[in-house]
Amino acid sequence: MFRISRTVACNLSTKKIRLFSDFIKVVEVGPRDGLQNEKNIVPSDVKVQFIDKLSESGLKTIEVTSFVSPKWVPQMADNAEVFKKINKKSDISYPVLVPNIKGLENALKVGVKEIAIFLAASETFSKKNINCSISISMEKAKAIIEQALSHDIKVRGYISCIVGCPYEGEIKPSVVVDLAAFMLQHGCYEISLGDTIGVGSPNKMKSLLHELKHVSNEMNKFALHCHDTYGQALANIYASLEHGVRTFDSSVAGLGGCPYAAGASGNIATEDLLYLLHGQGLETGVNFYKLVKIGEFISTQLQRKNQSKAGVAILAKEYSEK
Ligand SMILES: [Zn+2]
Repeated sequence: MFRISRTVACNLSTKKIRLFSDFIKVVEVGPRDGLQNEKNIVPSDVKVQFIDKLSESGLKTIEVTSFVSPKWVPQMADNAEVFKKINKKSDISYPVLVPNIKGLENALKVGVKEIAIFLAASETFSKKNINCSISISMEKAKAIIEQALSHDIKVRGYISCIVGCPYEGEIKPSVVVDLAAFMLQHGCYEISLGDTIGVGSPNKMKSLLHELKHVSNEMNKFALHCHDTYGQALANIYASLEHGVRTFDSSVAGLGGCPYAAGASGNIATEDLLYLLHGQGLETGVNFYKLVKIGEFISTQLQRKNQSKAGVAILAKEYSEK
């Protein structure tokens, strides 16, 4: 009996997801969020090879780098060079992260077409990470968005610490709601909700998404950006799928971490995200097997353990069959 009722529950769940679109946009953030938080600095030509491989995988959005001061993030010091050298395909967007007007100006010089800006939902995290209060960072963000839009640059907004902060603990959904409303109102086309330190769990995500419906009923305005510190990322992604979220950020091989939160792990691995989505019959347009190979490539280059469970499983199977 138990088995039957479980199957029924499972089918109902899949049906709920089917009420929304079957297509899921995967935003690959490995070259930026991933590599900027890796200890080893990757040579520029390896980054270019890495991004060019990602461009051949079916991904339509690849966050390439960050136009931040090399004093703060030495891993991204080669931002302009990498952006210029990658083989850009006309149907792929290559956003870059921009922390200030100076960063935007440098990005414009090399022909960037899309930027991402960020705000934190925690006062302390904002002060430690961006060096200013939430309200001042909002003013600065507004100026960057306005200038970007005047150059026909698309702007994506990130909100970090959406459910928890390493300094303040739990974060109130109302803070996230206000920041999301602010960014959408000023012209961001999408808001990526970042569980920066990976402390969220499905019920917290659901309540936040529920609150965000007051900001926009169109859930396609929101993306989820999960770090997998407590192993909750896929559960959170599944819960958000049921709430109509159709865009997810991930890093191949689960690259990255967070320098401001001890022990925080990288993004959910793109391979694991794809395995979940494709297993649910959802479409991404991304070639899972190619991503597995790219995950192996970048892990080898960084001499680091591949954090993708699905990727490691496929590679082990392949190796055993040789
Ligand atoms: Zn992140």
